[in-house]
Amino acid sequence: MLQQNAASGLKIAIVGAGPAGFYAAEALAAACPDCEITLIERLPTPYGLIRSGVAPDHQTTKSIQNTFERIARLDNIRFVGNVEIGGDVSLDELRRFYDGVVLACGAPLDAPLGIPGDNLPEVYGAAQFVGWYNGHPDFAELNPRLDGGGVVVIGNGNVAIDIARVLSKSPDELANSDIAHHALQRLSVADLSDVHIVGRRGPVEAKFTTAELQELGELQTTVALADAAELPETIGEEFSLRDRRLKNKNLECFKAFAQADPMSRARRLRFQFNARPVQVLGDDRVEAVRFERTRVVGEAVEGTGEIFEIPCSLVVYAIGYRPSPMLGVNLRGTDNRLQSDAGRVAPGLYVVGWLKRGPSGKIGTNRIDGEEIAKKIIAEVDASGRTGFSGLEKLFQERSLRWTDFDDWKAIEAAEVAAALMGAPRRKFVRVDHMLEVCRKIPATPA
Ligand code: NAP
Repeated sequence: MLQQNAASGLKIAIVGAGPAGFYAAEALAAACPDCEITLIERLPTPYGLIRSGVAPDHQTTKSIQNTFERIARLDNIRFVGNVEIGGDVSLDELRRFYDGVVLACGAPLDAPLGIPGDNLPEVYGAAQFVGWYNGHPDFAELNPRLDGGGVVVIGNGNVAIDIARVLSKSPDELANSDIAHHALQRLSVADLSDVHIVGRRGPVEAKFTTAELQELGELQTTVALADAAELPETIGEEFSLRDRRLKNKNLECFKAFAQADPMSRARRLRFQFNARPVQVLGDDRVEAVRFERTRVVGEAVEGTGEIFEIPCSLVVYAIGYRPSPMLGVNLRGTDNRLQSDAGRVAPGLYVVGWLKRGPSGKIGTNRIDGEEIAKKIIAEVDASGRTGFSGLEKLFQERSLRWTDFDDWKAIEAAEVAAALMGAPRRKFVRVDHMLEVCRKIPATPA
């Protein structure tokens, strides 16, 4: 149980209204019921990766937003959308209004692939591509060409699986998802024959979870395939009992994929292991990816010198994320996170979520982060008579900033639900100006 102390009356701003921000807000509100918490988001809409990262066909996972709505409605929490800290308002300005600021703005950019040809048209990072099919306004104009033959998805994590699965599903299978309408239209006429999901390590090291693999065995129009020659008989003794059990389940999936008939469905999803990308080939757009075969030696991946190519018209790399440099805080190190002392970046400035830990972990991992940071803030920060939201709101007025509150979000959500196609939970707005029109009560239809 957290203790209340001199922190009572604190004014805290949280930058980022995704899972990390909401869990930090919840923990702070519980620890300090008379503090004032402002949850600030760059988009007019809340929920961060729940809305724009979690796969559109994983609606059960997205239902966590019901919990976040309950948090947003707590008396001492205020949602403020459509305000970019580091853009509309600087971090220094924000800090002048609040006793403490918690950065919960994640890692929204793609870690670079960093090989020749990675800047060719039709080569996208996961943040872009997932953002496109999830209707994130930043990526609504991406317009990927899904017009021929093969796709290469680089990476062996759950994001790579999400992308490969969305590309492999039929329009019928996506009908009850909240995939962006532009993506559903494009996928409905896509002419893709082979989706290759390629990992630089082996099947044993792959970071997929079993539930995600099992789903791939049940697709209507795509058959998941693996090469039996790439699969070990069993999982080695070097892993803990728990890891062996989990890895064995994955191995069973791959073994089933190795038995599948490649001609049993119109499209194939092929797992390929021990191959690291060395070059994207093509002139005006991507034509193939060149790989070098690898072997895993302890923790390291070593090239064997053996080269091969996979022809494709689209490449998506899902190899991790990095933070945005927009905040003006010093992002140190090369490990894609903000350096902190257990969450404290500087006096009165804190960090949680992917920006603190790096891009890993489950949604619930953020709850632990939130509780830890709340304890730290309550122990370290005293209320100092700052204005909190009232001062920030004056600045919004001076700058004519149109910010959204939670009621605005509910109006946007209601319009999305009303516009949903049969079976779908919503039809997302993909443009900020359209969202804001709804808030002004001017009828608008999602794009
Ligand atoms: P991840 O699990 O860390 O996987 C990243 C993959 O990229 C790894 O296979 C990694 O290989 C590979 N990689 C990194 N750099 C590479 C390079 N230069 N060339 C080739 N491959 C490279 O990350 P993620 O898939 O982005 O997922 C992020 C987090 O979100 C994870 O915790 C994930 O479980 C979670 N998530 C969960 C779900 C779900 O539960 N359904 C869905 C989506 C995301 P090495 O292993 O060799 O480094």
